[in-house]
Amino acid sequence: GIVQGVSEITIEDTKVKGKNLDVLAEFKKSKPRNAANFVVIGHVDAGKSTLMGRLLYDLKVVDPKTLDRYRKESERLGKGSFALAWVLDQGTEERNRGITIDIAMNKFETEKTSFTILDAPGHRDFIPNMIAGASQADFAVLVIDAGTGNFESGLKGQTKEHALLVRSMGVQRVVIAINKLDTVQWSQDRFDEISQQIAAFLTSAGFLAKNLAFVPCVGLTGDNIVRKADDPKASWYTGPPLVSILESSEPVTRALEKPLRLTVDDVFRGGVQNPLSVSGRLEAGSIQIGDTILVMPAKEAGAIKGIEVDSEPSEWAVAGQNIILHLAGIDAKYLKSGDVICAPLAPIQCVTSFKAKVLAFEHITPMHCEIHKGRLHAPGRITQLIAQLDKASGAMIKGKKPRLIKPGSVARVLVEVDNPIPLEQGGRIILRAGGVTIGAGLVER
Ligand code: GDP
Repeated sequence: GIVQGVSEITIEDTKVKGKNLDVLAEFKKSKPRNAANFVVIGHVDAGKSTLMGRLLYDLKVVDPKTLDRYRKESERLGKGSFALAWVLDQGTEERNRGITIDIAMNKFETEKTSFTILDAPGHRDFIPNMIAGASQADFAVLVIDAGTGNFESGLKGQTKEHALLVRSMGVQRVVIAINKLDTVQWSQDRFDEISQQIAAFLTSAGFLAKNLAFVPCVGLTGDNIVRKADDPKASWYTGPPLVSILESSEPVTRALEKPLRLTVDDVFRGGVQNPLSVSGRLEAGSIQIGDTILVMPAKEAGAIKGIEVDSEPSEWAVAGQNIILHLAGIDAKYLKSGDVICAPLAPIQCVTSFKAKVLAFEHITPMHCEIHKGRLHAPGRITQLIAQLDKASGAMIKGKKPRLIKPGSVARVLVEVDNPIPLEQGGRIILRAGGVTIGAGLVER
């Protein structure tokens, strides 16, 4: 199912002059900020929104005036403690109640890293958002309510479901914020007990122990979020606060030496200086002004005439960064969200069928479905259920070919698409049918 023909392309003279930099050397010299994307997961009411609101507030992304406005508004509605959570809530429900949220709240920077929170946990339709977020996440932050009884009910609830979901999407690293330690008087025993149970569960789900980090904290007051806890009862914890742990979670591998890959998030047309630009995350490789690129699946070549990294002009960019590319020599009609920009000599292949390992959320049979990968949506169908797999190890469960995959099970399936789509091994995909997510997982080949 592979489409050939890339060699037919002739690259026009685009008159873009580059400097022919050694980008990897520039990168090593400059020590740029890392970029890291993460999702926030955990049981409802674990304190996810409050904790993220506190993080943004203490990093001064939200100014005190804005928070004050939220606080007044939430007190007026008799929900004083919700002010911090509202920092993240950008849902219409909140807007309808007369609260205006006028800052982009999902990005923040520390000295070392520029972070993107891939979903706002306050949203009502959280699961679909989270799945989409997980498909782009470098790591997950799992928030646990340490309160007596709450941890236990969370573990039966969404905590496990979310953890398995991000695992099935290929997320490898989890930072576990054991939250609301104030409600258990900063009990070290409680922290240890919860940490052990979570570690046992996550390792059984296939996470490596070395990719787990635990921090005791209080999102409501900010203890061990950006600053160390000042409660004397917390003095037993000598590790770093949450933000430092997030900073050390840089992308597991920076795929600098691999061929260029950028999945297009958005296409911008009609700018005066830059008539055609695209935004997205540089997943692999490096680029500089003057480079020739290839857009797939259109197989059209163009040239890079400008680059922005974190909204600043730059001569070059490397894997892991969120960027905007200004393009020349290519017609806008060849570009859309979900396309892949790649190196002309090592383009991504377009496929019409592929195998995938998916976690089922609904019953899966051979059926029509939509394949989502980031902004890419393509109609297709599941044509074969190849095997049922062990949830944790991914090993094949012996026996007859399954005729039905039950929700919560993991299976290898064969998927076909109507039109070729750019896809390669390890790509994170979501399968949807009738408006619901039926499964999510990784492309095998
Ligand atoms: P989410 O559903 O996980 O986003 O949870 P929220 O952030 O909405 O918080 C749920 C409830 O827990 C709210 O009433 C918060 O005020 C409260 N809460 C959040 N963090 C803490 C904390 O660290 N300590 C205490 N005592 N309460 C908290």
